[in-house]
Parts: sequence; structure tokens; C-alpha cells
Amino acid sequence: MVLEQAPPPGALLRAVAVYKKSKDVADVVRRCPHHERTTENNEGPAPAGHLVRVEGNNQARYLSDNNTGRHSVLVPYEPPQVGSDVTTVLFNYMCNSSCMGGMNRRPILTIITLETQEGQLLGRRSFEVRVCACPGRDRKNEEKNMRKNEEENMRKNEEENMRKNEEKNKPAPGTKRTVKEAGLPVQRPEDNKKSCPGGEEEIFTLQVRGKERFEILKKINDGLELSDLVPAADAERYRQKPTAKSTKKEKDGPGVPKKGKRLLVKEEKSDSD
Ligand SMILES: [Zn+2]
Repeated sequence: MVLEQAPPPGALLRAVAVYKKSKDVADVVRRCPHHERTTENNEGPAPAGHLVRVEGNNQARYLSDNNTGRHSVLVPYEPPQVGSDVTTVLFNYMCNSSCMGGMNRRPILTIITLETQEGQLLGRRSFEVRVCACPGRDRKNEEKNMRKNEEENMRKNEEENMRKNEEKNKPAPGTKRTVKEAGLPVQRPEDNKKSCPGGEEEIFTLQVRGKERFEILKKINDGLELSDLVPAADAERYRQKPTAKSTKKEKDGPGVPKKGKRLLVKEEKSDSD
């Protein structure tokens, strides 16, 4: 507690322990029955049921509030020693946080108040207190659990994001997607640039839903592949041969695409599925 000015003479410091969680806050923080009854640590002036004691100060007074039943310990305010900025008060907690029938693992706060002799409040601070038999071990375990929880939360968030993205990428209800990722080259664009500067030999994979559709596209592709093999002059001769079924005469050039990407239709499913 930082004081801007010295409190009036006779000012007192009071320490009270309260439960941190709202469901417990009405309960008085007291020692567990076991520690309250043992003779060990119970020979001093402090009442056996009080959890918080002040050490090394024979002016400490222990009170139980008549209305709330709460225990508190009071010491006279002492200004800091010459050359020091702070006054130290040693508090001793007479049970472990895990004590059955006492705190029972419920977290507690210690509230420190600075009061005038008449009980007028001058200042107030609180801090959480955990009393453990093995603080080092408990801290390590707690930190480990915290890390585990953080990792768990991160993993959950990632899963949630993935799920949301999948949802976003789903077609709207009623629209049936027949060709998946159509037109997406399997190769990465950077690779294409390196290996095929013209793009003519670039190979694309098209996933087609349904055998019938696949056969149609395959026929188109076979035709294109074949026309690449047949010299343009021969192709023209084939066209001019009257065929039994085709009567339509082509006028628009050779009809053989010289440019543009070739379509390779593959039947097998891609790994991305
Ligand atoms: Zn205890």
C-alpha cells in the first residue's frame, strides 16, 4: 500500500481473509478442525481458529467481528525505518489451502486495510493467497496445467477455424457442384514458369463427377490430342471426305486449336480428396 502522506497517529493495519469465489464469499475463512485442535502451533496469543497470524509483533490483536464472524488481525501502523520506503508486516497462514474442512482448495484473498483508531477506512489493498506444503512442486504443476490448457485452447481454435472455413467453402444449398476445383493446375504457378515458359506443355488435372460427363470430356480431349498429331493438311483432307453422317461443312478455318492449354482428363481421384 502506497501512502501519499503519513496516516494520523494511532492508525491501524488490519488483515482479513475472504474467499475469492462469489459462491464461497459468505463463508468465514477459518482454520480446519484438525489444525485448530492440535497443540502444535497453538500455544501463542492467537486464537486457534484464526488462519492469519502476524509474526514478530507483540502488539497484534485478534478480533472476531460480532456481526459477520470474520476473523481479523490488527497491528499499529508503523512508519518505515529510516532509509527504507516500506514497512514490513509478516503474516503467517496457519493452514494449507488444501486443508479438508477448512479452505478445502477454495482460493482466498487477503484484504489489508489501513484504518484510523476510530475505524475510518484510509486505504485498502487485496491479494490472492495460496498456502501450499510444496510451493515449488505446486507451482510447476500449475504452470504445466496452464500450458496444457493453452495448447488445448489453441488446438480447439484451429479446429474451429478449419471448420468455419470448410463451411464457407461449401456450396450454397441447392447448387450442385459437379466439377471440383476445375481449372486449378496441380502444379504450382512458380513451377510452371520454370519448366514450361510457353505453357503449351503444361498439364492440368480436371476432376469430373460422373462417368457420362467424363466420357464426353475425354472424347473432346482425345480429339484435341489427335488433331495435334495429324498435320493440318491431312486434317483438311479428312474433313473434305464426305462422311455418312456429317453433312455440315466447316468454313471456319481448320478448327484445330494451335494455342491454348491442353486438357488432360484423368479418371483417378486426386490426392487432395
Ligand atoms: Zn488445516
